[in-house]
Amino acid sequence: MSAGRYSRQERFAGLGAAGQEKLSRARVAVVGLGALGTVVAGSLCRAGVGFLRLIDRDYVELSNLPRQTLFTEDDAREETPKAVAAARRLAAVNSGAALEPVVADVNAGNIERLIGDVDLALDGSDNFEIRYLLNEACHKLARPWIYSGALGAEGGTMNILPGGPCLRCLAPVVPAPGSYPTCATSGVLNMVTGVVALYEAVEAVKILTGSPAVSRSYLSVDLWRGTERRARIERNPDCPVCGRGEYEFLTRGRDTYGVSLCGQEAVQIVPGTPAELDLPALAAELSHVGAVKLTPFMLSFDGPVSFRLFPDGRAMIRKVTTVAAAKSVYAEYIGL
Ligand SMILES: [Zn+2]
Repeated sequence: MSAGRYSRQERFAGLGAAGQEKLSRARVAVVGLGALGTVVAGSLCRAGVGFLRLIDRDYVELSNLPRQTLFTEDDAREETPKAVAAARRLAAVNSGAALEPVVADVNAGNIERLIGDVDLALDGSDNFEIRYLLNEACHKLARPWIYSGALGAEGGTMNILPGGPCLRCLAPVVPAPGSYPTCATSGVLNMVTGVVALYEAVEAVKILTGSPAVSRSYLSVDLWRGTERRARIERNPDCPVCGRGEYEFLTRGRDTYGVSLCGQEAVQIVPGTPAELDLPALAAELSHVGAVKLTPFMLSFDGPVSFRLFPDGRAMIRKVTTVAAAKSVYAEYIGL
């Protein structure tokens, strides 16, 4: 890249040329490319982080565009997987960055591989299941990660550093799926996801460059009221994760499972063993019963039922609300 690209950052005393050099060698994984993940990934890529693994299971929809800064209406029209669309956009912004899009559901079967070779993992997810899994995998591998979340006009973020308090110390009781408000039920403003994501990004820069200014507290903001609080979280010696090393989420079975998707009338089905589907052959068969669209990343089917199918056998079954209904669509049209 041309000399001087990062001159404004190098002149900033907290970073300097040495800090910029560290960023160019840094490797991060962004888990989830929604409102938080796209802003974090965009900020770090522009700032010169050398390698970004961009992980998301979903594809772009119009309702994403108010908050998710790396996507366009074309991406929504073409139902481009978010990881692919994000990598395309960021490659155009910074051709010097190494970008690895990963279209996958993050689960116990792949998380250690996805974060095992990075310096830092960043939470851009929208659910606690993935966050607790990330918490356990990062503790096991002694990787730092940054938690973040936003809802309405409120949000929070905290650095989870090896040896320090973990997410389970901050939130000991694991919320049951469906028991907590989500962006789909309570709404969210793009200003709050932007603010929280940029707090997350600046902490990422501090961690990656070894700055002594790394935050040791939990930060929460309420932009509507205009308040900001910092709370010191203590390590819980009885914490199952960082106290006793028990990994409840990481050791769960890997059978085929289904999850309702936040904000959509849809259920995702993930096969226990990843498949290698012949999507063109399946498309030819399905074209007798409904409308089929095939891209290099995904098969879309709209007929008596509606779904999006990925080459690894993962499917988003639309217009269903229960896992059982989604599994029966999967069995009938794709085959379990
Ligand atoms: Zn803990």
